[in-house]
Amino acid sequence: MKKCFTYACSLSLLLIALTGKSQSGPAHYTGKIIDTHVHIAVEEGESNSMSTERTNTLKDVLAFMSTASIVKAGIITMAQKGNMADTRLRNDSVIALSKKYNSLIPICSVHPMDGEEAFAEMERVHKQGVKIIKLHPNYQRFDVAAPEVAALAHKAGELDMVLLFDSYSPLDGNEIGKLIMLAVGNQKAQFIFAHMGLVNFPQLLTIDALKKYPWYKNNIWLDVSAVAPILGDSPFHDQLVWTMRKIGIDQFLFGSDFPVFDPLAAIKSVHAMGFTQEEEKKIFYTNACRLLQLQP
Ligand SMILES: [Zn+2]
Repeated sequence: MKKCFTYACSLSLLLIALTGKSQSGPAHYTGKIIDTHVHIAVEEGESNSMSTERTNTLKDVLAFMSTASIVKAGIITMAQKGNMADTRLRNDSVIALSKKYNSLIPICSVHPMDGEEAFAEMERVHKQGVKIIKLHPNYQRFDVAAPEVAALAHKAGELDMVLLFDSYSPLDGNEIGKLIMLAVGNQKAQFIFAHMGLVNFPQLLTIDALKKYPWYKNNIWLDVSAVAPILGDSPFHDQLVWTMRKIGIDQFLFGSDFPVFDPLAAIKSVHAMGFTQEEEKKIFYTNACRLLQLQP
């Protein structure tokens, strides 16, 4: 019995020596993480509106960051149409938090149908150092193909800003195509397609074709929020990872979509997708540094 145990131990040590891996699975990137997709409550009674499992106060955000090696988090607010006072209040709240906490990146919002007032608000927050504007076609109820959205994307290009778009619509099956056309038509702006289209992710392979054209500026980025925990270990796994590599791992960002998803579980879901450590480092950290011009 003892002999048997010794034999098994030396066999596993031999395996570790040969492969560099323990039987608990491959080693993962363990360095700094930037979470580009965090919803934070900024108004009274808002902290339990997005999840039945967890609240999203400032305290909640700072708590998960410290337990998960998340050195920076993009804190998102979302604007309502026709209420500029509320939009400004929301944007001022995330800007104030980012000034108080160096680890928080302000992600402001406007509503495309607010026209000139939305542009003025983009200019106002841009002057305060804001780089990212959040837009959510489903929540904010607008069509991505509307001319007002194209005008807003043009404005974002002028200001050298990033538009963080939710990219899953349960109502508009053509939304991925509309988003790609918007990005192609406004290549001075950067676009993040949050959730990588979720169940519509194969449509994003169009980006692989776009890369073949000399005029395409690679201005489409994607975050893995929701898609990694939902589809990462599903029967779609191989297609998802293949699609990400075809688009280019350099374009992918980590996002947790807190409080809808638990950030620690979201990190684990990316680990479970089987990327190399080098790919994980890009997704978790260096790609976001490149997009936001942060010193890695
Ligand atoms: Zn979200």
